[in-house]
Amino acid sequence: MTLQPPTHNFENDYAELDRRYAFHPFTALADHEKNGPAFVLSHGEGSTLTDTQGRRYIDALAGLWCVNIGYGRAEMGEAMAEQARTLSYAHAFSSMAADKPAMLSARLINMAPVPMSKVFFGNSGSDANDTQVKLAWLYNNALGRVHKKKIIARQRGYHGVTLMTAGMTGLPGLHAGFDLPLPMIRHTTAPRRLWEGHGLSDAEFAASLAADLEALIEAEGADTIAAMIMEPLMGAGGVIAPPEGYYAAIQPILRRHDILLIADEVICGFGRLGQNFGSSVFGMEPDLITIAKGLTSAYFPLSACLVSDKVWQVLAGPAHAKFGAFGHGYTYSSHPIGAAAALANLDIIEREGLVAMAGDTGAYMQAKLRAAFGDHPLVGEVRGQALIAAVEFVKDKAAPLAFDPGLKVAPRVIAAARARGVIGRALPNADTVAFSPPFVISREEIDTVVAAFRDAVDEVMGELR
Ligand code: PLP
Repeated sequence: MTLQPPTHNFENDYAELDRRYAFHPFTALADHEKNGPAFVLSHGEGSTLTDTQGRRYIDALAGLWCVNIGYGRAEMGEAMAEQARTLSYAHAFSSMAADKPAMLSARLINMAPVPMSKVFFGNSGSDANDTQVKLAWLYNNALGRVHKKKIIARQRGYHGVTLMTAGMTGLPGLHAGFDLPLPMIRHTTAPRRLWEGHGLSDAEFAASLAADLEALIEAEGADTIAAMIMEPLMGAGGVIAPPEGYYAAIQPILRRHDILLIADEVICGFGRLGQNFGSSVFGMEPDLITIAKGLTSAYFPLSACLVSDKVWQVLAGPAHAKFGAFGHGYTYSSHPIGAAAALANLDIIEREGLVAMAGDTGAYMQAKLRAAFGDHPLVGEVRGQALIAAVEFVKDKAAPLAFDPGLKVAPRVIAAARARGVIGRALPNADTVAFSPPFVISREEIDTVVAAFRDAVDEVMGELR
């Protein structure tokens, strides 16, 4: 059959245009092609989104954990428009430089949670994590350690969707059908208290996770492992903070085996945990740091790799001597509009004290969620820290026992919450809903979010009985 070119006699029916022509990420494609989108957004302000029918929603996830300063900031629009007028683009290849990316690099190095030396810009969290792997490989090749290439990630960690990073992501839904993970990736145990840590004290759980890592390194051989990547607090994999003492147990093992530590700060970075970086919250001392999302609050797609002096000295020294000019970079690396957006975003965060606000409002949100769900018979755990949280549903709390995934408990809760004017997100491969609102969300809006979710959970649980 020959496909007919699109005819747009339904041109204001955005839902129909979308159903017919759009190919959505992380979406049940057949369902979308049949039913189309639940709504079509057209405006955003603060923590609120409005669709083309004029319905308003509170965005309890700040887009995808990223619109930290809230929607509709005129100052951001002005900064980007001004940059587009003065210097809309400049590439950064072959030592080409522009003012705003240079200023942003210096500012990021000053802010870094541990001493860092250089900044390499990308476009997304995925490509930045991909770059980190290439840096780790180049580092070891330059040092003549040609077999030290494997990457350790954690089950349930989320690091992106490129060929390399989708494999590092420890969620089966990102591997199935794509021939992933690539063969040099290994996963170690997820630090989930509810499941892997059930019945253990923090100290016992941290020790068992460290023992698992040590056993993996021994089985593979430390001379085959380049780096380990970790989110300080896991986001998309379930909003999972490790047990007390975890990083203190893990980091000496990595150091002893000369394995680089990559901190994936894509969600934690720029304040969501009530401090600038998750690494500071948990006492991590990474060699490489990945940032994205909160860097521009998603007003522009921009990411970066922060590189420590230890790695930089090898890249600029032996790697240069052996392989010549650094052969990696994107057309949009160091995009001046992205840099202008990041600088304006960081100004707003500082001027309005939004990191402290995320800590305060976050404590309020955690208390409200625990009060609403802590004793619910079908809630296995309410967890999180500051302005990031999750509620996980279980069939039996004591065992614990998961629901049959076919029941789609969490997605049904999300649909029921949406009908009550709140947008949330069901996390992949778990019956978990997440909360990660803009830092500017008000306490009244949090009350509305929690009440809507409580009603939504009761509705879905009523159907399941
Ligand atoms: N790393 C973490 C911790 C993330 O949460 C994400 C996205 O959610 C990524 C990496 C990938 O970022 P992107 O979707 O911009 O490629």
